Amino acid sequence: MSGFLHQISVDTLRGVGPQLATKLKKLGLYNLQDLLFHLPLRYIDRTQITPIGGIQPMTEVVIEGEVRASDVVFGRRRSLMCRVQDHSGVISLRFFHFNRAQQERLKPGTRLRCFGEVRRGKSGLELYHPEYQYLDTPNPAELEETLTPIYPATEGISQTRMRDLCGQALAQLSQSTIAELLPAELSWGENSPLSFSLVEALRLLHNPPPGTALHLLAEGQHPAQQRLAAEELVAHNLSLLKLRQKVQQQLAPTLLEDKTAKHKFLSQLAFELTAAQQRVGAEISADISTAIPMLRLVQGDVGSGKTVVAALAAVQAIANGKQAALMAPTEILADQHRINFEQWLRPLGIRVAFLTGKVKGKAREMQLQAIADGSAQMIVGTHALFQDSVEFSDLGLSIIDEQHRFGVHQRLALRNKGFASEDTVLNGLAPHQLQAPHQLIMTATPIPRTLAMSAYADLDCSVIDELPPGRTPVETLVLSNLRRNDIIERLKVACAKGRQAYWVCTLIEESDVLEAQAAEVTASELQLMLPELSIGLIHGRLKPREKLEMMEAFKSGEVNLLVATTVIEVGVDVPNASLMIIDNAERLGLSQLHQLRGRVGRGSQSSHCLLLYSMPISANGSARLKIMHETNDGFKIAEKDLELRGPGEVLGTRQTGDMQLHIADLQRDAHLLPQIKSTAETLLLNHPNNVDLLIMRWLGHSEQYAQA
Ligand code: ADP
Ligand code: MG
Repeated sequence: MSGFLHQISVDTLRGVGPQLATKLKKLGLYNLQDLLFHLPLRYIDRTQITPIGGIQPMTEVVIEGEVRASDVVFGRRRSLMCRVQDHSGVISLRFFHFNRAQQERLKPGTRLRCFGEVRRGKSGLELYHPEYQYLDTPNPAELEETLTPIYPATEGISQTRMRDLCGQALAQLSQSTIAELLPAELSWGENSPLSFSLVEALRLLHNPPPGTALHLLAEGQHPAQQRLAAEELVAHNLSLLKLRQKVQQQLAPTLLEDKTAKHKFLSQLAFELTAAQQRVGAEISADISTAIPMLRLVQGDVGSGKTVVAALAAVQAIANGKQAALMAPTEILADQHRINFEQWLRPLGIRVAFLTGKVKGKAREMQLQAIADGSAQMIVGTHALFQDSVEFSDLGLSIIDEQHRFGVHQRLALRNKGFASEDTVLNGLAPHQLQAPHQLIMTATPIPRTLAMSAYADLDCSVIDELPPGRTPVETLVLSNLRRNDIIERLKVACAKGRQAYWVCTLIEESDVLEAQAAEVTASELQLMLPELSIGLIHGRLKPREKLEMMEAFKSGEVNLLVATTVIEVGVDVPNASLMIIDNAERLGLSQLHQLRGRVGRGSQSSHCLLLYSMPISANGSARLKIMHETNDGFKIAEKDLELRGPGEVLGTRQTGDMQLHIADLQRDAHLLPQIKSTAETLLLNHPNNVDLLIMRWLGHSEQYAQA
């Protein structure tokens, strides 16, 4: 037989009947290529015989010896005990399940080779239910020549069967083949993972020769594993690049810069744009003035002024007769954006619609109407904006704020939703006539470069790397909870001078109820100690209206001290607030601390952030607080966060969970990422035929690709 293993069904293998074939297919193993990509979890060494006198408990060993005695013993459970001896010692084999024939065959004098895990039992060291072979047959089996793979456990398929099937697939690898999808010319230089061919890597991993470095295999650092990890990461990168291509094959409206509108917008702002804001604004402006849909990520530290850059883009879209939509992750943030956009855009005669879950009944009808008939040109809201009942009249630009709250999937779904609604609006038009909105995505927190490259490979990236002038960096102090009374005294003095403050309560578990309770308790405690202050309380259990009213009261200065849960984490902008106290700060992650701290330091007076910890504090916890004390730079904090927590946590489990990596590990293999990106781009350009094959091989029919 020749050809490709992915064209040969598992049905063709020896010993595979309809029943087994069904089981295999349930595991996603349809063809011989699938089998070869079903990699062992670990390996055991059956290549050497261990003298019985030298075996250690808790190890797996092969022994050879002669049965000396064989007895059924009655204890709590009936068992068959065989004493086996070699020149160096004696050990017991213990079987709880056995039949008469087995018992008779294991009679004294029989020579055996056994494999099993050594445990301490009643009679000293024992092997429980070892695998065994008879040596006194005409052709005793040879000792294994290679390490024995252990496959992921699967219902109803034994290890022996799995090994046999993979062995058969490997045997066919000499006539048939698996397509090598990373051409040799992609070489990454000497000793790179690509110096291993795919076939070599698969052979080695199913059948590691004696002497293979087991510790490298265990850590996923073996070149054969790295070869596959690299390919897997390339495949993921390609799937994102393909999504991008697919979007960019659509036509977007050309939204040319309108100097008058831009000037009008900028001249009524209370400030000048920073150089970084102008640069990023110009990048966006250039993107949306072409018919290729923009896919751009704006990164910028907390408080760098991303919103106004988004507004500038919206003005350009609206000046071209299109609608712009801005989606925020929370009601509080959406409402704050509404206030800003109304203030900034009203002078330009632009009507702002507002749609969140809390807008109901008649008001909702009116908003939906204004969105559908185009009388509202700017639409601000939460994810409610992308529900089925919302139809845009002519959406030219969609903006997603604080992206880290949304997973990759949600981002893709939103993008698709944009098209889906347009499909219905523009029913009957040929696909190339459909117009796709330009997309702008803004992150709340900087993302380390390597991670951004893999998780956002489908996006262009702009960075606002400068804070507006006149900000004084927040001074951060780390203090023991034992000094609570001093701190409350300090708070009193600060508020007496007209400063406003946040007191943030934290909990380990994400429980709205418990968190709300903790905040309530703290608020009443503080009120007792500080009767002269007006203390507000905000948490996730309040009704949206109550939250907004509380934020208003704080903004207007009516409330001096706002006791809050982490609901204020994103986007809250009250420039007069210049003091923040975070209770049990050691419990929070770095990016969350950085986000929270970003709520102060927004005005021109100097700001302080007090991080309270209670003992005992973990090494990691104190490392986090130390970094917070040392730097205000979100990019530095993000790098450190990656170091301390790993990529799954940094990106949010949603996002890496989505990636469903089989072999690669974003953190372990981070060193591969820069080359992954360039390799993916080269493949797309020079080897387009390999691209879909790679994606199918590694992502299969997974949801992510199916959405493309
Ligand atoms: P973020 O990037 O965290 O979303 P915002 O867009 O909320 O930041 O901006 C933070 C604050 O800075 C807002 O009050 C905003 O009006 C103000 N701001 C934005 N750009 C400038 C600027 N160039 N000069 C002064 N203040 C600015
Ligand atoms: Mg923001």
